[in-house]
Amino acid sequence: MAKTRTVSAKAKVMSTDHVQVMQTWPVQHGPRLGGKSALITGAGSGIGKAIALLFAKEGAAVCIADVDGKAAGRTAAAIAASGGQAVAVRADVSKARDVGRMTRTCVKQFGGMDVLVCAAGVRGPTGALIDAAEADWDRVFSVNAKGMYLCAKHAIPEMRQRGGGAIVNIASVVGLVGSKMLGPYSASKGAAVLMSRTMALNHAKENIRVNCVCPGSTETPMLFGTFARQPTLEDRRVVRDRYVGYHPLGRLGKPREIANAVLFLASDEASFVTGVALPVDGGRTA
Ligand code: NAP
Repeated sequence: MAKTRTVSAKAKVMSTDHVQVMQTWPVQHGPRLGGKSALITGAGSGIGKAIALLFAKEGAAVCIADVDGKAAGRTAAAIAASGGQAVAVRADVSKARDVGRMTRTCVKQFGGMDVLVCAAGVRGPTGALIDAAEADWDRVFSVNAKGMYLCAKHAIPEMRQRGGGAIVNIASVVGLVGSKMLGPYSASKGAAVLMSRTMALNHAKENIRVNCVCPGSTETPMLFGTFARQPTLEDRRVVRDRYVGYHPLGRLGKPREIANAVLFLASDEASFVTGVALPVDGGRTA
């Protein structure tokens, strides 16, 4: 694995009263996550998979977790085939026992955990909040909200052992603004945003940063599933155009574009960033 090299750089800054100030800051060369180990949930598909591939390219050893164990295995195999370090584990993030097992797998395999990314998520039913069946509400919250709580609960003690760490949760634009048609999903993503901010306050003194990324509509199997549920091809086109129209940039996001933001927040480049909910949404919440 390529090593990260840190060197000192100096700059001369002239202030207005001509007093010369010397500033020194670390400049990193090499992969942006070199020497780090990361656990990524939901990494068998879509955004989580794109994050895993990018993290591995940037030098991280990655633990790929997904409720679909075969999909997790495929992501890990793709990383290994391109020379990266990865291990796959089947885990349902809503189950404490599974979360404990995947955390232990990461620590055992890579000697610890520096980064946790919670990308596992489910979309839930379409419709107004109070029209959702209780079972649907429970399922959406057990994965999208409780899953993040359980993952952090197991990861943070490991990060303490390393003297710090970074957590990036994948929320949504509809965790920042309401959604008429995705009631429980929107509520669960709102919870994800404030869980992230709350944990950022709880763990700042331990050098553990917690941020979240709020994607707009992104081209993944989850979104394509929404289009595929339409009865005709024409309906699919209409719904897709409607989603595109939500975004001032005039298109849907790509998983890699979300992964780029996650990479920044997970890396030491964001060492003074915690408690942020970063929209990556083509201007949708502008
Ligand atoms: P995706 O392609 O469906 O990927 C999500 C992955 O999470 C799937 O492999 C899924 O497995 C897995 N998963 C579901 N429940 C799980 C559980 N209980 N434990 C572990 N893994 C589980 O969806 P995506 O679009 O990449 O979504 C990734 C994250 O981004 C989600 O949190 C989503 O809410 C969020 N997001 C997506 C969009 C978008 O437009 N795509 C926008 C905003 C936010 P199965 O396929 O077997 O269920």
